[in-house]
Amino acid sequence: MKVLKFGGTSVGSAQNIKKVIAILQKESLTSPIVCVVSAVGGVTDKLLQAGALAKQKDKSYLTVLDKIKSIHYKVIEGLTSEPKAIITEVDQKFEALNQLLNGIFLINELSPKTSDKLVSYGEILSSFIIAKTMEGMGLNAILKNSQDLIVTNSNFTKAEVNYDITNKNITDYFNKANQQITILPGFVSKSQADEITTLGRGGSDFTAAIIAAALKVEQLEIWTDVSGMYTTNPKLVKQAYPIANLSYQEAMELSHFGAKVLYPPTVQPVLNLAIPIHIKNTLHPEAVGTVISNQKKESNLTVKGISHIDNVALLTLEGSGMVGIPGFSKRLFETLANEKINIIIITQASSEHSICFGIDISNAEKAENTINLAFEYEISLHKINPIIVEKGLSIIALIGDNMKSHQGISGKLFSTLGKNNINVRAIAQGASEKNISAVISEKDVSKALNSLHERFFETNTKQLNVFITGIGNVGEKLIDQIHQQHSFLKKNLKLDVKIVGMANSKKMIFDPKGIDLNNWTDQFHHAEPSSIEGFYQKVISLNLRNSIFVDVTANHDVAAVYQNYLKQSVAVVACNKIACSDKYINYKNLQDLSLKYNASFLYETNVGAGLPIINTLNNLVASGDKVISIQAVLSGSLNFVFNNFSDKKNFHDTVKQAQFEGYTEPDPRIDLSGIDVARKILILARENGVKMEIEDIVNESFLTKTNLDSTSVDHFYETLIDDEAHFQKLYTSAKANKCQLKYVAEYKNGKAKVGLQEIPEGHPFYNLEGKDNIVMFYTQRYPEQPLIVKGAGAGADVTASGLFADIIRIGNK
Ligand code: ADP
Ligand code: ASP
Ligand code: MG
Repeated sequence: MKVLKFGGTSVGSAQNIKKVIAILQKESLTSPIVCVVSAVGGVTDKLLQAGALAKQKDKSYLTVLDKIKSIHYKVIEGLTSEPKAIITEVDQKFEALNQLLNGIFLINELSPKTSDKLVSYGEILSSFIIAKTMEGMGLNAILKNSQDLIVTNSNFTKAEVNYDITNKNITDYFNKANQQITILPGFVSKSQADEITTLGRGGSDFTAAIIAAALKVEQLEIWTDVSGMYTTNPKLVKQAYPIANLSYQEAMELSHFGAKVLYPPTVQPVLNLAIPIHIKNTLHPEAVGTVISNQKKESNLTVKGISHIDNVALLTLEGSGMVGIPGFSKRLFETLANEKINIIIITQASSEHSICFGIDISNAEKAENTINLAFEYEISLHKINPIIVEKGLSIIALIGDNMKSHQGISGKLFSTLGKNNINVRAIAQGASEKNISAVISEKDVSKALNSLHERFFETNTKQLNVFITGIGNVGEKLIDQIHQQHSFLKKNLKLDVKIVGMANSKKMIFDPKGIDLNNWTDQFHHAEPSSIEGFYQKVISLNLRNSIFVDVTANHDVAAVYQNYLKQSVAVVACNKIACSDKYINYKNLQDLSLKYNASFLYETNVGAGLPIINTLNNLVASGDKVISIQAVLSGSLNFVFNNFSDKKNFHDTVKQAQFEGYTEPDPRIDLSGIDVARKILILARENGVKMEIEDIVNESFLTKTNLDSTSVDHFYETLIDDEAHFQKLYTSAKANKCQLKYVAEYKNGKAKVGLQEIPEGHPFYNLEGKDNIVMFYTQRYPEQPLIVKGAGAGADVTASGLFADIIRIGNK
């Protein structure tokens, strides 16, 4: 004999019930079948909703009742072409239900006892409809009310089973019955005083387990709407997958900690008899599902699953008067037991200064009042404080029998949570080490489950969630590169880079699943208005793991929010130089925040676009080398200007051309005054560990005072014409000395300067072309022949690739 249970979705529509009947027909070919069914999906909730409305004297309970009726009519009509006979009988049950609700409405009261009577209609109706349909199909099926078999105490809404009587009832009945298929309602039972009771929400699984154990069958099958017990809640984690084998203990822990697919008490009756539980999917009967048994199956996973319980309140009792005095915990837990308040998690600091425990939020108020009352005396003496209640929490738990023999699991758990800025409020580890639990904020559950799942089950791929601000030339190139490299990175580096948000100064779009990069421009067209703060708020509220904020602007206000991102453990990648060349204290603050919140802050593109200059310097310093001096040409625009300027072409026209070809800032004075280069050498000096301000950099300008004092860009150009002779003198001198003019940045012994220099032939700077940059590092390890980085130091493509490389570095961390 086999016991099969079908859940709410499995019997949730005529179409699904047909699938159930097909499964029953097939399985009954080989052995007699006991089939336990839930209420039609959603009906239990609706019955309770109708009851609550009726109790509040709200007539709309009748609308809910109508909805319950129509759900059932629709099922019946979908199942048979002759629905009349079934509907007539069902209507009698609806009439009784109507009267019950009317009674609740009139007396304005809904006791747990009446509530059980009310919800029992769900299973009574579904089992009746299914049995009648099968009968109509000429199948050898009969309906048996499990209330005649399962006997409980009078603990309404979650009654406890009297196994002596129940087991006898079941064996007596099935010994006599010779039906090939017996249909029974799940969830419902009766007390010894003949009152209707229920086994608790989700209790149909339990009904099936009770019958399976009483009959000592070979297998209990739980048929549901997912293909087994998953590594974590599949509704919250897309990558979750079914676990092939679990021990009873693992299944119990997972279900106790929220894996709703199995009602926790279900394991108890079958455990001692070692009856395996097979979880199967009604909608995909071919899927293998999960087998729960004693059989040790080799698995290379130590953590088998991650589950979570929502709606948790954390209560903390503390005070100096508790230390060393026995009996406090006993009194506390007795108080809770007397109120029938179930404790989900307990932790006690070893100082015994405080006891902290988690309960369902619905019990929080009751617990608070009764505990404060129970300890009224001690509270009045200030020996302990009134109990502290925190709400809005959830528990997440890692589960696995083998965790005890593996080190480092809690380390991985907490580092993953920490990296994702998830604050842990309390921790508990069962002495059996089958379970490590942490209390976190409810808003972080999805992020926690996803990142832990990635850490423990998908060592393979890591998802990076990228938010880009600044969709200009460089931003667009970056999007293109990410799009183009997506599958390569996924395959070769196991990185799944998703762009979740994009903004320019006018618009922003978001898609938590990743913006479709095939037509992002269309979407961007219809985007919402953007703001720096609005973008930040959205990034934080999405609360995604491995979030990276990328600044592709040159904007002060954007740079000012980096610190907020870092404080939320969101990594920052910037080509915007403003933050790193700002006051030292601000630069240092960002470095400190990055360390404190474990959020990367990378800005390779601040110096020399995509060239690995900062990274090279960081590696030299980190590996113990000492940088003696740095000499560099770091301005593409100045390079262009001096490569083109000669006695045949005046300085004014050369600068105009540079601006026209896009080599200068809109205000060319920023380049020509040397400010831009000074910022870059400042950043390099700081990366070398020197506390330096921009004012500390000697800037020997080659411009005249009139140029520098110009009041506008146009005025500046006019002064260039006036001062042509000055510029020609610079050129002639260099030419006479067989030199090239280069704008050089130098760092040595904690000091830095920038300025125009005459570079002789043979010097590495002499032949520098176009927009190329060059940096020479003289170090203890490279004392005479410097380490040289050279290449294109400007341009949208290379800058984008530098940003991309920083993003990948974060992914590989
Ligand atoms: P039934 O009505 O068949 O009893 P339930 O809704 O009670 O079904 O349980 C199945 C649901 O449990 C799934 O649809 C899924 O959303 C949820 N669930 C939560 N955690 C898990 C998990 N770890 N594995 C599988 N399902 C889970
Ligand atoms: N129908 C009940 C519930 O929804 C029992 C069950 O489906 O297992 O809780
Ligand atoms: Mg269920």
